[in-house]
Amino acid sequence: MPRQSVDASSTADGLDTLNIAALIYRIDEDVPLLVDANETARRLLSIGDSFPTADPWHWLDARRCPATGARHPAMLEDDSHASPQWQYFHLRQSRKPLRAVKLKISPLDVPADGDHRRHVLIAVGEITEADSDATPSLLPQAEPQLHQMLGNLPMGVCVIDVEGYLRLVNRAFCRFFGYTESELLNAHFRKLLPEQHRPAADQYHAASFPDALNQRRAVEVLLRDGSTRTVIIEDTINHDDLGRPQHIAFLVDITERRNLERRLEQKNRRLEYLATRDDLTGLHNRRFGLELLEQTLERSQRYGEKVSVAMLDLDYFKEINDQYGHPVGDTILTDFSRLVVELLRASDTFIRWGGEEFLMILPGIDRFAAQTTLNRLIEQLHDHPLSPYDLRISFSAGVGEHHHQTSKGLLEEIDQALYQAKSAGRGCVAIAPICVSRPGQCCNQAFSSL
Ligand code: GH3
Ligand code: MG
Ligand code: MG
Repeated sequence: MPRQSVDASSTADGLDTLNIAALIYRIDEDVPLLVDANETARRLLSIGDSFPTADPWHWLDARRCPATGARHPAMLEDDSHASPQWQYFHLRQSRKPLRAVKLKISPLDVPADGDHRRHVLIAVGEITEADSDATPSLLPQAEPQLHQMLGNLPMGVCVIDVEGYLRLVNRAFCRFFGYTESELLNAHFRKLLPEQHRPAADQYHAASFPDALNQRRAVEVLLRDGSTRTVIIEDTINHDDLGRPQHIAFLVDITERRNLERRLEQKNRRLEYLATRDDLTGLHNRRFGLELLEQTLERSQRYGEKVSVAMLDLDYFKEINDQYGHPVGDTILTDFSRLVVELLRASDTFIRWGGEEFLMILPGIDRFAAQTTLNRLIEQLHDHPLSPYDLRISFSAGVGEHHHQTSKGLLEEIDQALYQAKSAGRGCVAIAPICVSRPGQCCNQAFSSL
């Protein structure tokens, strides 16, 4: 492609030696007539030898309004300055694809034959097929400085046209994906995405025209070696020199950062888990259990819902340790916890309070219903021998109902009830009486009978 600049004084034949197509128009009563064309123009634009002739093309001003800007370039000569500027047109010739041309328009000296009508020289810089996917836009050639600057940018930059074809890729972009520039230019951007992301990317691309969505987004991309990376893409829409909209996208590789963040997230989740769980049984631990209790009591207070709470203590557990050893005791604690969680409702919470003591929060039921639940558990436990030694265990429990007390007050009440259950022979449930005196205080009424 010729790239030399064209002076207003250049002649058609002089331009021929530079391999630049030149067309000469005569303006006849405001009608441009093609009166000559140099060899390069005849070759590139497939024009015959018969001149003057009616203009064989329909010109569309690519920069102004492609649909209506039908001013003939030869008629724009008056607008030109002493040093003409490049102008951009679409050229339509019957039965030929639309072509894009970059041209300069200059007034021409009066020919020797004394014809004093106005003549215009149109020098054609570049010709590309305007709607062909296989032809890069004029931008890279037209803006060498910009091209060089993009080439040196450390971040990947690409230009994608409306159909999704890569029209420009800088060095960092090629290096990152592992392709050469020629392997990427005119390829579809889908080539750079894992299969499963392609439909969504197509949709996003279509939705980003005519106005950019301006979303900074993380995208998983596919490199030549088959590996995937995560990049942040920022993009914008601009128009190429022919007025066609295109996507300019900037890519920054954030794979390492993303992996680090993922590892940190996992670690945090693990730490959070450890901070709230009991190591042996996996149940909520006492500290988190107390938080859960307070939240539940607050909710029950606010919405006037019932909530019952029970303290359970395994019976004669020391004897199991003494007889079978501590590891068997641990197995019993774990098996017991799993069994109870299986038997409770999803809304109930079971907490390892410490040692062989457990706290149970039963939202939505009163203390009598809670007692029934606990008694049923004692029965089920009896039917489920635990550990490799098939040991039958039982627990004693004290249950209370929230009724204005603080969590501390409620815990004291159910502790006393538990003591009653132990005193009554174990393997049973005692109910703490509801304190009807002043809120926040524990009453000293006798516990209900077992
Ligand atoms: P009671 O019916 O009066 O509750 O009798 P008990 O033997 O269950 O009560 P005591 O308080 O005398 O003993 C509790 C035992 O629980 C002693 C302790 O070693 C054991 N224990 C506490 N935590 C663990 C644990 O994590 N693993 C094992 N194996 N034993 C534990
Ligand atoms: Mg105990
Ligand atoms: Mg015990």
